[in-house]
Amino acid sequence: MLSFWERESLSKYDYIIVGGGIVGCSTAYHLKKKKPKAEIAIIERGVFPSGASSKNAGFACFGSLTELVDDRKGLSNDEQLALVEKRWKGLLALRNILGEKNIGFEENGGFEVIRKAELPALEYLDHYNQLLRSIFNHDVYSLKPKLINEFGFNKNDIETIISNPFEGQIDTGKMIKSWWSLCSEMGIKIITGCELVEFEEDHDDVKLICHNGCN
Ligand SMILES: Cc1cc2nc3c(=O)[nH]c(=O)nc-3n(C[C@H](O)[C@H](O)[C@H](O)COP(=O)(O)OP(=O)(O)OC[C@H]3O[C@@H](n4cnc5c(N)ncnc54)[C@H](O)[C@@H]3O)c2cc1C
Repeated sequence: MLSFWERESLSKYDYIIVGGGIVGCSTAYHLKKKKPKAEIAIIERGVFPSGASSKNAGFACFGSLTELVDDRKGLSNDEQLALVEKRWKGLLALRNILGEKNIGFEENGGFEVIRKAELPALEYLDHYNQLLRSIFNHDVYSLKPKLINEFGFNKNDIETIISNPFEGQIDTGKMIKSWWSLCSEMGIKIITGCELVEFEEDHDDVKLICHNGCN
């Protein structure tokens, strides 16, 4: 149960964002930019974010050739182009907002291993280089079979390797640390160990019911 003081001063916000991963932090950041006077809090159930943002592989990627070929089942060329552009612009924004050093960004390029089963995707290599030219002004995908030896892969299993110079890697622990620092600097309150269980809407208010009693 919260005291009167806690209820009045510590638990009322204009906006509460649930989850302190990359989506929660970037939402809070952009909201604060738009509404500098708004009181914003992020509630996070973990001691630090316990979701995918700091557990993932750290690929700064926007779609390998076989992923794009697979997406053809549900997306038109225009939709695919728009999606890749959003992903690419998102990565650029991330590098720009947080700083490449602060997120451990390394532009090492990306590589996709092609086995027999993936060979049909190569028919689309020129198509996607052409389609993505308006974003990158350059070929994105190129075949580098010599890398099989260089990387020490088994030649019997792997047909070729596709190289993509525009991808890289991120240290996702550093990235989340930077998001949290930036949000704190902007006056966004981050409350950890607070799991949202349910919420109730009451006219203009929303009441959050959380596991640790910080209603
Ligand atoms: C194994 C794996 C590998 C991946 N590899 C890559 C990759 O290499 N490159 C790439 O771009 N993407 C990758 N992704 C995808 C990427 O990690 C996710 O798209 C991204 O992290 C999603 O961010 P998010 O903020 O929405 O979710 P999350 O990072 O999961 O954040 C959600 C947060 O909300 C909190 N939360 C949830 N419920 C509540 C609640 N009720 N109350 C309070 N807090 C709550 C969680 O604790 C968590 O911290 C990978 C994903 C996985 C799972």
